[in-house]
Amino acid sequence: MAPSGSRSIKRSCKRVLHWIPVLFISLIVAWSYYAYVVQLCIASIENVGEKIVYLLAYHFFFIMFVWAYWQTIYTKPMHPLKEFHLSYSDKELLERVDRGESQQEILRRIVKDLPVYTRTMSGAIRFCDRCILVKPDRCHHCSVCDKCILKMDHHCPWVNNCVGFSNYKFFMLFLAYSLLYCLFITATDLQYFIKFWMAGGKIHDRLNEYLSGLPDTQAKFHIMFLFFAASMFSVSLAALFAYHCWLVCKNRSTLEAVRAPAFCHGPDKNGFSLGISKNFRQVFGDEKKFWPVPVFSSLGDGCAFPTCLVNNQDPEQPSTPPSQSPPNKSGGEAHQFPAKPLRESQSRLVHSGESFRESDGPEDRERTGTPNPAMTLENEV
Ligand SMILES: [Zn+2]
Ligand SMILES: [Zn+2]
Repeated sequence: MAPSGSRSIKRSCKRVLHWIPVLFISLIVAWSYYAYVVQLCIASIENVGEKIVYLLAYHFFFIMFVWAYWQTIYTKPMHPLKEFHLSYSDKELLERVDRGESQQEILRRIVKDLPVYTRTMSGAIRFCDRCILVKPDRCHHCSVCDKCILKMDHHCPWVNNCVGFSNYKFFMLFLAYSLLYCLFITATDLQYFIKFWMAGGKIHDRLNEYLSGLPDTQAKFHIMFLFFAASMFSVSLAALFAYHCWLVCKNRSTLEAVRAPAFCHGPDKNGFSLGISKNFRQVFGDEKKFWPVPVFSSLGDGCAFPTCLVNNQDPEQPSTPPSQSPPNKSGGEAHQFPAKPLRESQSRLVHSGESFRESDGPEDRERTGTPNPAMTLENEV
């Protein structure tokens, strides 16, 4: 068989294998639906009022959870805009020169017109040689998707998708609703779970009854395992959700929490933080009514992010002319990025009123006082 044919078969197999975790979750959710609705509510609960309330509340959490999960899986991750891709002539030029300083010279020229403020740890322009583009701030190349993903958080096998700018809000809602779904099941199933245990009988006797196929015992086993599964998932989901809430408040992606983004002046883990309220709105948007709904409402375009670093200039004022820029630390030639007009959503983030006042530590308060994100000029090292 031709090598290209075997490669495509391998790729197809991999694609199928990647869906296994999603299939696993879907099967568990489908079983939990059967166990809760049929075995608990319809077959076991006798009080009609209780049955109706449980079924209504359950379906609300179920629908929101499935909706958020669906959106996280099927929302395509966003890739850098055309302006970050190298032109044909730049590509040729880059291929002709040696790696290192001469390549960086070319990239520095390209990046001059782009709102790019992060660098590699060694201070070089971040360039993806697989996608042949200058990486926008917070963008990373995903080895699974083999593409550069805007504001990449992580590649999640449980949704078989990259979690990034386009679906991070959906991922947060997926965690929130799956946690509520599990907590609701745990809370309402608890009394029936206890009843089952209090009814007496050892586990192996129950198992024998189950194997003999009595429908009554079958319901009890579904109720028991439903409680175990829901409470176990609740614990792990609560931990993961709490961690991501902390990341949202700090305006960090999972990758940035592992390794702080590097700017021209060095790594800064709070480089993108604008204060809890603004950080939250960057992910969930300005309109409160959309916060709990899995529809896209994040602010910005995913390519440029407000930062609050270096010179705290007044955004209304024209940028400092190059001659007035302070020399860089290395004493080398100082270079200034052109001040880019902020996109509307980012301007809203930066110039919003008192309601966005920071409630973080004193260091962060100082940052949000006069933040001037993408307008901030940095000295390239
Ligand atoms: Zn890439
Ligand atoms: Zn990916």
